[in-house]
Amino acid sequence: VEGLVKHFGSRGLFQRSRATVRAVDGVSFSVQRGETLALVGESGSGKSTTARLVLRLIEASEGRIRFQGTDITAASQRSLRPLRQRMQMVFQDPFASLDPRLTVRQTLEEPLIVHGIGNAAERRARVDELLGLVGLGQHHADRYTHAFSGGQRQRVGIARALMLKPDLVVCDEPVSALDVSIQAQVVNLLKDLQEQLGLTYLFIAHDLAVVKHMADRVAVMYLGKLVELAPRDALFSNPRHPYTRMLLDAIPRPQPGQPPRHQPMVAAEAGSPASLPTGCRFHPRCPFAVERCRVEEPMLDEAGPGQVVACHRKHELPEWTPLAQAPQA
Ligand code: SF4
Ligand code: MG
Repeated sequence: VEGLVKHFGSRGLFQRSRATVRAVDGVSFSVQRGETLALVGESGSGKSTTARLVLRLIEASEGRIRFQGTDITAASQRSLRPLRQRMQMVFQDPFASLDPRLTVRQTLEEPLIVHGIGNAAERRARVDELLGLVGLGQHHADRYTHAFSGGQRQRVGIARALMLKPDLVVCDEPVSALDVSIQAQVVNLLKDLQEQLGLTYLFIAHDLAVVKHMADRVAVMYLGKLVELAPRDALFSNPRHPYTRMLLDAIPRPQPGQPPRHQPMVAAEAGSPASLPTGCRFHPRCPFAVERCRVEEPMLDEAGPGQVVACHRKHELPEWTPLAQAPQA
């Protein structure tokens, strides 16, 4: 993905705003075969829009998207058809993304029918196989998904995404709508499936806790821009952008025996892509902001092996101490 930009007009996503909204504003990254690249940011950061752009579910205003060597930026929907089988999506809300009038079998067969794959017996076998892979017994096949729990529905959503044997699966906050107790099960399922099937994930999340055990690399977005991209361990042990640090500080640390809290602590003060701050977009919230930050936009720049950061003061920040290891006040 190179220099991806998406503008929305006044009648688009942000109904109340009259100005053009730059939801994604010059984003570049690559996802290697077999890896998980996590794309993390608060709501309004442009991460879901980026996911939809990558799959060509919406059209980019600028930039290029290459998939397995093919430039798909301007490919017609017709020529995209064979590629669509290889790139699939798991949606955030398994309640909204599944048709309650269909049985599980009908839901899972649909992509095969749309793409004209297999006869009835083969489709049947593929559905049974997928139900097994996602940990739902075959006895669920003739049930309707409206009777399912959130976790079960998301298993159906994952099975549906895998029906066509994709290479790339874009997961848009696949556990955000689920009970905290179910989230780990679904994350573990996705990890197991990746190993078994050699899948590549672009994994969208709004908090870093979810991607900690899942991602190989993490890209952090803020108001339409990447602000940091790093290998997972570097990002968690040595975050170099003040916003990444803020997100890490917001990871809830449950007391033993208590259910984890789940509150996006920084979301309330988040900026809006409809009225972007000058200079560094993060400056109104940044504890390290100086005058330069208000006027000059920082560019992504190497900060360590495989780690890039967009911050004027990346070399001047205090050493990072994870809150979990800091003395309790
Ligand atoms: Fe903070 Fe300035 Fe760095 Fe932006 S460029 S993150 S305002 S220190
Ligand atoms: Mg979203």
